Amino acid sequence: MTARVLDGQALAARLRAEIVPQVAAFTQRRGRPPGLAIVLVGQNPASEVYVRNKLKAGSEAGFRADLERLPESATLADVLALVERLNASPVHDGILVQSPLPKGLGSDAVSRVYEAIAPEKDVDGFTPGNVGRLVQGRSTLVPCTPLGIMELLTREGITIAGRRACVIGRSDIVGKPMALLLLQRDATVTVCHSKTPDLAAVCREADILVAAVGRAGLVTRAFVKPGATVIDVGMNTLADASTAAQWYPEGHPRLATFRKNGSLLVGDVHPEVTDVAGALTPVPGGVGPMTIALLMTNTLQAARSEAERHSKR
Ligand code: NAP
Repeated sequence: MTARVLDGQALAARLRAEIVPQVAAFTQRRGRPPGLAIVLVGQNPASEVYVRNKLKAGSEAGFRADLERLPESATLADVLALVERLNASPVHDGILVQSPLPKGLGSDAVSRVYEAIAPEKDVDGFTPGNVGRLVQGRSTLVPCTPLGIMELLTREGITIAGRRACVIGRSDIVGKPMALLLLQRDATVTVCHSKTPDLAAVCREADILVAAVGRAGLVTRAFVKPGATVIDVGMNTLADASTAAQWYPEGHPRLATFRKNGSLLVGDVHPEVTDVAGALTPVPGGVGPMTIALLMTNTLQAARSEAERHSKR
């Protein structure tokens, strides 16, 4: 068996195209485009790439998309002051603070900053109020990566209700909200983490397996029930030539890319899984582009809610 490829790149392009006329209609009605502000603190090279892609997708879809940059030397008070300014901004409907924040801001910086974001502008769905609403199954802004995965599963016709789902990873941004969204759609959900004994056996029970770990190739064929849907959230840099040569046969385009660049962006799922799974998201071109598309959806949702509140004032 060779797994069906769940092409997140193509689906995300369709979603972004669908949103363009909706953004144009909003702009005409309100006399301004929906606005997204992305806060980037310091100079993390990976964050620079993610932020550039988000800004590009936003501008192309007709949003106002602004980068709000602070230097590595910024204090927590500087970041909080910027968030407060954006909370009050009449042209920004969505605020996204790119993680990770510089370590120098302190261990509680992430929670302090997320707590400061106005919940109605929290397009990442990370504020405590929005997380609480998600837990209770009430309408809210939901983290973009798990929301994008749900959209992908739905549009690809993967049955969720009544199926066994397993999520590897329990982070606040992917694993936990992913488990909650699957549960809301009536899957029976298991959440695994670094202390889960016999991880492969637990995962092998799943009809839908979501890997959100950050370990290249952790999920081997032993983790996968034949025919299962496997969603690879991981984004890892493979820099070891012998591993690349083990993973890909001579002449494989991915091996050629490795040799050209000296490294390769890979997921948590080992390439051998394609022989066992029924459907599989590629890395790159699976979950990543869907995350960006759903950021656009969330920003438009936040803008529409703001417009509704405005009309009631
Ligand atoms: P994270 O906060 O580091 O969480 C990783 C999770 O994996 C933790 O719950 C950890 O368990 C678990 N884990 C670590 N090693 C494990 C092992 N050997 N066996 C089982 N579980 C293990 O990471 P994250 O922010 O959720 O991100 C996960 C991956 O997704 C990363 O590669 C990240 O780059 C990627 N990502 C991609 C997108 C996208 O748009 N494509 C978006 C977000 C994240 P403990 O809790 O026990 O430590």
